[in-house]
Amino acid sequence: MSDETNPFESLQTQIDDAAAYLDVGDDVIERLKYPERVLEANLTIERDDGELERFTAFRSQFNGDRGPYKGGIRYHPQVSRDEVKALSGWMTYKTAIVDIPLGGGKGGIIIDPDDYSEAELERLTRSFAKELRPLIGEDRDVPAPDVNTGQREMNWIKDTYETLENTTEPGVITGKALDSGGSEGRVEATGRSTVLAAREAFDYLDKDLEGATVAVQGYGNAGWIAAKLIDEMGATVVAASDSSGGIYNADGFDPVAAKDYKNETGSIVGYEESEQKLTNEDVLTLDVDLLIPAALENAIDADLAKDVTADVISEAANGPLTPKADEVLEEKDVFVIPDILANAGGVTVSYFEWVQNRQRFYWSEERVNEELETVIVDAFDALVDTYEEHNLENPRTAAYVVAIQRVADAFSEAGSWP
Ligand code: GLU
Repeated sequence: MSDETNPFESLQTQIDDAAAYLDVGDDVIERLKYPERVLEANLTIERDDGELERFTAFRSQFNGDRGPYKGGIRYHPQVSRDEVKALSGWMTYKTAIVDIPLGGGKGGIIIDPDDYSEAELERLTRSFAKELRPLIGEDRDVPAPDVNTGQREMNWIKDTYETLENTTEPGVITGKALDSGGSEGRVEATGRSTVLAAREAFDYLDKDLEGATVAVQGYGNAGWIAAKLIDEMGATVVAASDSSGGIYNADGFDPVAAKDYKNETGSIVGYEESEQKLTNEDVLTLDVDLLIPAALENAIDADLAKDVTADVISEAANGPLTPKADEVLEEKDVFVIPDILANAGGVTVSYFEWVQNRQRFYWSEERVNEELETVIVDAFDALVDTYEEHNLENPRTAAYVVAIQRVADAFSEAGSWP
């Protein structure tokens, strides 16, 4: 795990790599490398023991040329201004590659939520929602879940916003519980796009997914759902890890039972179907057909990339490969399905949730999954067309070429504003 790679610099490198293939002026590219604005807020809440504690929170609105800013809010000790800026940029190009009418944003609070009670987290979330209130709204900026946040936090934010605004506006936030205006299929959506994209890549590369071996790094919402769905598609999940370590079984294990075990004990390590314990790094370098990094940024740096032996990588996490790792993997002919496509299912179903909220008309899970599949397959086809057209070595660059062009077109077509 590399600590040195600044994710905001990684984003800018990725944009520069694609800019070489684009007919977009340097001045416009410069605009597309920085957030439009970043809110930094200090939130002071009362702990359960009566003491006050201050937390730093951010919301970066990267680009709104194609629609309202869109992106999650994470609670993690590693959150920083630059991390949030990078994540908001990745959101911009993610909504563009899947061609949904939204921009990019991201938020975060520097906190380890495990150290706080539910009541404390509710006070903190409502305090952040109060700070966000002037910036968000269904036509302005629409937050969503991310690392360590979920339906519970989204429901609190919706309630705070609606109470302060004296209105009902469920589309102000996505990833809500079903009874609070959430969408069917939203929880599974990130993992679903990761495996749909992998299926398309295997097909494109003439590889068989049936019987293919898979390793999953990170067993949170994205990772475990990806493991479950890829198993249902006939692949064999042989390894998985979480923050405590990894497990391995050459014949594969039941991903759902492993998740149940994690829910009971706090970790998948020790799960009875595991033949062997692995470290996180072992899981990332295992000789498998498909690797799914589903944890945090910078999981694979250039050094570790030298030992990666998977044929295909589908990035469920945001930014799991450093740009230097990308270079190494490109030389080794590893086909990397970039995060902005592979994990775009989350924001795509958030878009469906927002559409349903605005129409006050709700879809079946079947419809959500079908529409999601169409979006991911179309985006993969657009990536491959550009990959072949420019004879690119790296599918990530192809994704950025498509996405940046779309954002630049929306910006240019809007004309200039004095
Ligand atoms: N946090 C997710 C992501 O990184 C989902 C964002 C959303 O639904 O707006 O894509």
